[in-house]
Amino acid sequence: MKIRDIIKDKEVTLSFEVFPPKTDAGYEAVEKAAAEIAALKPDFMSVTYGAGGGTSKNTVNIAADLQNKYGTPVLAHLTCVSSTKEHVKEVVREYKEKGIENIMALRGDIPKEGRICYDYDHAMQLIYDIKSIDDSICIGGACYPEGHVECARQSEDIEHLKEKVAAGCDFLTTQMFFDNSTLYQFLYRIREKGIDVPVLPGIMPITNAKQVARSVALSGSTIPQKMKIMVDRFADDPEKMKEAGIIYASDQIIDLISNGVSHIHVYSMNKPDIAAGIMRNLATIIR
Ligand code: FAD
Repeated sequence: MKIRDIIKDKEVTLSFEVFPPKTDAGYEAVEKAAAEIAALKPDFMSVTYGAGGGTSKNTVNIAADLQNKYGTPVLAHLTCVSSTKEHVKEVVREYKEKGIENIMALRGDIPKEGRICYDYDHAMQLIYDIKSIDDSICIGGACYPEGHVECARQSEDIEHLKEKVAAGCDFLTTQMFFDNSTLYQFLYRIREKGIDVPVLPGIMPITNAKQVARSVALSGSTIPQKMKIMVDRFADDPEKMKEAGIIYASDQIIDLISNGVSHIHVYSMNKPDIAAGIMRNLATIIR
């Protein structure tokens, strides 16, 4: 099922994310985690794509299993910055063969060691290529409520986003953010610029102290004082820290839904217990 239809048909949706293993040895554990998260019956699940594209077969296989074995609609990610056009076309065809109807079209981070391939500079070019293979595929794009780290001015980032959406995004999913006012300001700015596709806020439950530094390094997201205090209070007690992180994320989600932002994507990071905790807190609200 296409995500653009799922979010049109339902007032509130909740989706979860898994990432594929870096090596084949880790496949079984990720497959098991994905199956447990699917059993919670989210509206869809996304499967990320290794930055360099070297683990693309794991993304394809996990996505296909989720959809075909467990009946969960899937959003399969695809990055292009380290890939040739040929490889990208191969992966899109594989997704199609496995019946996957939704692709999150991403550029990917530029590798620190430098690029090995120059077929793609931006996600927009990937969107054009996917559409040239099959115009009916439902396409998602990434957006950044605090601005993308490479772009000095948010206004420029929003101009680029507008071009990307015009290339053919059916919806956008945001980078993680921990203060909802950041998202509300961003939505105001993009709507003012005429970007009118649905925006799915990406919520990352922070359930251990190390994750804070990692999340900031990866995303550049601001950590609000409220979260810093929570982490400081509970960091030495893993059980309490996990529960506090689930409650913080649930509280963010309830505030979003209360304010009419109601298609929520959770970065569940291959953690069924965290996905289950969020589902437990929201079950009544989302059904
Ligand atoms: P783009 O949309 O191409 O934007 C990248 C930068 O280029 C921005 O600064 C933008 O302003 C600028 N730009 C865009 N168009 C132009 C233009 N025409 N001229 C000049 N500048 C331009 N990474 C992975 O490796 N695998 C994943 O599965 C993955 N999933 C993600 C899911 C979400 C929801 C998000 C938010 C991020 C994800 N990422 C993933 C990370 C993502 O790949 C990086 O953030 C990457 O640096 C940017 O990708 P993009 O698709 O947003 O790029």
